[in-house]
Amino acid sequence: MNSRAYRRWAGALPLLAIAAASLAQDDSRDGEEPPALSVIPVQGNVYLIAGAGGNIAVQTGDDGVLVVDTGLPENAERVLAAIRTLSDRPIRFVVNTHVHPDHTGGNGTIGAAGTNEGFRDALRSEPVVPIYAHETVLHRLSGAIEDPIDLPVRSWPIDTYHVDKFDMYFNGESIQLRHQPNAHTDGDSIVWFRRSDVIATGDVYLTTSYPFIDVARGGSLQGIIDALNELLDLMIPDRNEEGGTLAISGHGAISDEYEVVNYRDMLTIIRDRIVALIDMGMTPEQVKAAQPTFDYDGRYGIDSTLWSTERFIETIYEEYAE
Ligand SMILES: [Zn+2]
Repeated sequence: MNSRAYRRWAGALPLLAIAAASLAQDDSRDGEEPPALSVIPVQGNVYLIAGAGGNIAVQTGDDGVLVVDTGLPENAERVLAAIRTLSDRPIRFVVNTHVHPDHTGGNGTIGAAGTNEGFRDALRSEPVVPIYAHETVLHRLSGAIEDPIDLPVRSWPIDTYHVDKFDMYFNGESIQLRHQPNAHTDGDSIVWFRRSDVIATGDVYLTTSYPFIDVARGGSLQGIIDALNELLDLMIPDRNEEGGTLAISGHGAISDEYEVVNYRDMLTIIRDRIVALIDMGMTPEQVKAAQPTFDYDGRYGIDSTLWSTERFIETIYEEYAE
């Protein structure tokens, strides 16, 4: 793929997915076949389902199925079908990396398709599938924190955690949710499958574009860099810096440590350049004119209605200009 085509493809993904969520009723595809979901073995018990919105990680085993993120609401049935190609065991748990509807939209449908005897809905007698997330995800969906994202109650992650880390054990594997404060949003979790040696990163790590810093929901570049550094603490490469621990990005490809290092370094370099330009007394317009992202734009530049390289630079400026 040439770099312009790559950029168009890369730039479109993460934010158009969010736009698509708010335009869910406007089905402009008009009977066209939706693109097929990709189901990709990652490592150990963990698989990737791509193409339904944000990336979805699926862990399978004798105990059943655990699903990390659930894609856009309109794709939930196709996600279920893709899960069924991996396992016919019951769906037992759903986990959300953050609140955006391209990651939480399928919660209701996928949760309703599963069963978990250990958890019962307070209002009914039937077992329900617990949906785990950091507590601010629930606060935003329930309106405790005002937020325009609106999902039905069945899609809310009722089983939340508020500490730094939350432990689970499922399918003979220890799994840890680790909160990343004020990164992509204020409620990001990375999900670490310790035996499979795979981490689902949510949108603190993308291979498709510069990160979307959702300032309105508490996001910050510094928080994203901190999250990437924590990710790198957990990742151990195999020989020649290849393979080893694998990261499932929020949008885009599966990566090893080397690729996450490059992304972290890129963001750190861009941050330091912008801080240096701020220290020289430059205005936001002057900083943008200085093109502090120029050498990375071919790979990570983005120009969609919701996010762009310009907004990325302005947002970093606002964060560090005090
Ligand atoms: Zn997101």
